[in-house]
Amino acid sequence: MKLTHEALDRECPHCKEKLKKYSVSSFNFSDGLGFGTPLLLVCFNDECKIFKDGWSAMFDNYGKTGSMRYWYNPVDGDEGVLPVGSREAMRGDIIEE
Ligand SMILES: [Zn+2]
Repeated sequence: MKLTHEALDRECPHCKEKLKKYSVSSFNFSDGLGFGTPLLLVCFNDECKIFKDGWSAMFDNYGKTGSMRYWYNPVDGDEGVLPVGSREAMRGDIIEE
């Protein structure tokens, strides 16, 4: 499927920050399944509700130190959250414009 400019120009529904393009090429799920897209749109706003609330949610639910970031798949419109181990996690794969 072709990625349109409109599909890549979205804001986070939780904090209204513009989502950043994130290269999934280096990212793999532990079960080996991919996203079916070369990139995801991810909210890297450290003030985002998902990220701020994620710290306690991760600890309460999984007993782990970490948080979550919101993502949107521009190919199929799917969305969800990804666990991150730290504030800097995943930032190396942001596609800067
Ligand atoms: Zn956000």
